[in-house]
Amino acid sequence: MKTMLITGASRGIGAATALLAAERGFSVAVNYNKTKGDAEKVVESIMQKGGLAKAFQADVSNEEDVIRLFEEVYTEFGNLTSLVNNAGILEEQCRLEHITRQRLQRIFESNTLSTFLCCREAIKRMSPKYEGNGGTIVNVSSIASRTGAPFEYIDYAASKGAVDSLTIGLAKELADENIRVNAVRPAFIHTDIHASGGEPNRIERIKETIPLKRGGLANEVAEAIFWLASEQSSYSTGIFIDVTGGR
Ligand code: NAP
Repeated sequence: MKTMLITGASRGIGAATALLAAERGFSVAVNYNKTKGDAEKVVESIMQKGGLAKAFQADVSNEEDVIRLFEEVYTEFGNLTSLVNNAGILEEQCRLEHITRQRLQRIFESNTLSTFLCCREAIKRMSPKYEGNGGTIVNVSSIASRTGAPFEYIDYAASKGAVDSLTIGLAKELADENIRVNAVRPAFIHTDIHASGGEPNRIERIKETIPLKRGGLANEVAEAIFWLASEQSSYSTGIFIDVTGGR
């Protein structure tokens, strides 16, 4: 059976991806950091529909946790087919002169370092160089990497810009090892993340500037993630799918 590990799958886009992947035949490793109850609800919902899933606690910005996470997923499900690097955070909107060193560290560790560490551990399971059978990696970036998110969170935008560069480089590094690396760049998706930016109704404020005139649903991003993770996208590597309502 194919196995997908999704980081930050207790809520939002990660949870929607977990439900979709299970419906389409994957065993799903549902990673969370703090929201155990939410992760367990995702697992329950998958199991009720006859799917296979398990919740795994790990702070993916912590190297020891990441190593343990991949070991636990291997013990439970065997070889990994797909990794979705979805976990991410943002902090209160502000201009750059108000961003502290500590905040930069939190943002880059949670969004960028975590993605590097998880890619590294996935390569050790997927690459034929380590007796793996290949696989797919999908990074959840953000359209902020293109816009820079001025006056809101340049730090977050830059942390996702680094994820874009990682996607391009790693796709080429792994192309002849049967591992494809791609990314989605969402924007304006209805999830809890906007509240942590200090503006829960951010989408409402800007929706008239979005060509499709609405925010997106987590499931609409999950469809793009799943396509990139699946065999349906077999001739694509190092690409980006923008799920942004046309902005
Ligand atoms: P969300 O609803 O706030 O969910 C974030 C998820 O990430 C939660 O499951 C959270 O788990 C997990 N997480 C955060 N830090 C973690 C860590 N250190 N270790 C493990 N898990 C961690 O956010 P979302 O909107 O679904 O965002 C998912 C991804 O999409 C993020 O990378 C985000 O940057 C990106 N994105 C979202 C939007 C949007 O409009 N929503 C736009 C562009 C990009 P815990 O609660 O357990 O910590």
